[in-house]
Amino acid sequence: MTTSTETQQPAAKSMDDIVALCRRRGFIFQSSEIYGGINGFWDYGPLGALLKKNLKDAWWQDVVQQELAGPDGRPVDIVGLDSTIIMNPKVWEASGHVAGFNDPMVDCRETKSRYRADQVMVATPAGGDGAMYAFPEGDPDSIAKKLKKARVDLDTCEIRPLTDIAVDDFTRIIGPDATEAGTLTEPRQFNLMFETHIGAVRHEDAKAYLRPETAQGIFANFWNVVDTSRVRVPFGIAQLGKAFRNEVTPRNFTFRSREFEQMEIEFFIRPDAAEQWYAFWRDTRYAWWQSVGLAGDNLQLREHDKDELAHYAKEGAGTSDIEYRFPFTAPGFGELEGVSHRADYDLKAHATHCGKGDKLQYFDQERNERYFPHVIEPSAGADRGTLALLCEAYTPDDSRASKVYMKFTPRMAPIKAAVFPLVNKDGMPEIAEKLYRQLRKRWMIQYDAKQSIGKRYARMDEAGTPYCFTIDGDTAGDQAVTVRERDTQSQERVALDQVEKYLAERVGG
Ligand code: ATP
Repeated sequence: MTTSTETQQPAAKSMDDIVALCRRRGFIFQSSEIYGGINGFWDYGPLGALLKKNLKDAWWQDVVQQELAGPDGRPVDIVGLDSTIIMNPKVWEASGHVAGFNDPMVDCRETKSRYRADQVMVATPAGGDGAMYAFPEGDPDSIAKKLKKARVDLDTCEIRPLTDIAVDDFTRIIGPDATEAGTLTEPRQFNLMFETHIGAVRHEDAKAYLRPETAQGIFANFWNVVDTSRVRVPFGIAQLGKAFRNEVTPRNFTFRSREFEQMEIEFFIRPDAAEQWYAFWRDTRYAWWQSVGLAGDNLQLREHDKDELAHYAKEGAGTSDIEYRFPFTAPGFGELEGVSHRADYDLKAHATHCGKGDKLQYFDQERNERYFPHVIEPSAGADRGTLALLCEAYTPDDSRASKVYMKFTPRMAPIKAAVFPLVNKDGMPEIAEKLYRQLRKRWMIQYDAKQSIGKRYARMDEAGTPYCFTIDGDTAGDQAVTVRERDTQSQERVALDQVEKYLAERVGG
């Protein structure tokens, strides 16, 4: 996680409350909950599945389907792909994942816990050579408690990542969950790829991996796509799908999971066009996250410093992260999407590893030259995106029966409208059901005839439904319904035969 430490006000929302609402209303459940769950895996319930689908559909529509104008003024050409999760293991040797997809880890001899060294922070009290206190990055509460117990004032401490601390000083560190100092081991490498075996025999030669990113499926198919479609550089390939990483310390709800979905674009360009396309994608992707509802101060674009860049990006156009201030990272931010210039690293690596080398260079007809295209990669996470939408939408409001409502944009809202008969008699259910059937041909609509109207509004507020239409005792006579708007709670009368148009104007689709 990249958490930068801006000093703005923390988002005043409680993660515990958000997690509780997600569980209560069926946005997100723990995977295998009836068996006590499984760490790092999450299921999306009826509302969550719709929300996440809306985010993924919007990405696909706005990236693959809709026309964007590029920095050269021409339409941006992007095609879709759906490659497998398990690939020939040579893919992961070529990409560097088998050898290098490691994060330095530290073990705690006292608690047997394992942590990613770059995700542990250490508080060192000023002066002396006494104890140092380790805590997980993004968990300011745990260090506050620990220091209070040790009677150390946080303001007098210097906070540094564990990776900046000399191994000789580890004897002074009290691990994140430990009571004694000196129980953390030296950082060691640990491979994050999930392994499996293909076929009936669990033989070393049959070893394969669940993909840790969707990107390599794109690179490995670059030549197939060029040969079978009319794409010419500059163009992109987009893919959306599951990725798996055996994260050592999954945490912060779905933010760091072991199974998650990515939305990745590899955009292939001429080597000399990197800067303009990098800037284009950085700005386009940032504007996209704003368009789906993360428009306020909680979203930021952070350009990496040169020393943070991956080895292949050091000489390139740059890398930036689009970050969101989650309640658990505040006042810092956590990464939603990385936009990076990967140069020709991946295509060259695959060309070399498959033994064809320069024969796989791309032939640029316009320029009559051969080269390996450079790549700008906007790589986003659908689960972190969904979590950011949930955190952003969560709006406490004591004046409402539900005490909270979810302020999703209409495009992201899982349910676009609800239809209620005021009471379950006098012909109202018949009119309501007819309207419900008409509207659900176009949108996700909820029909609800149970409980008081106030309770029904409260349920829809928690689901983030923008509009509720109520058929009452007057409807049969005046052929009109009452529409209630979620954010203002204002109500107005709309003609029954205008409801579909009314909704289309407000939620689209
Ligand atoms: P981090 O530094 O937080 O581990 P990363 O830089 O390794 O992330 P990338 O490899 O760039 O992440 O992956 C692209 C995107 O995939 C991230 O921006 C994030 O949205 C998503 N992602 C990566 N790891 C996870 C995870 N463990 N759980 C959920 N989403 C993830």
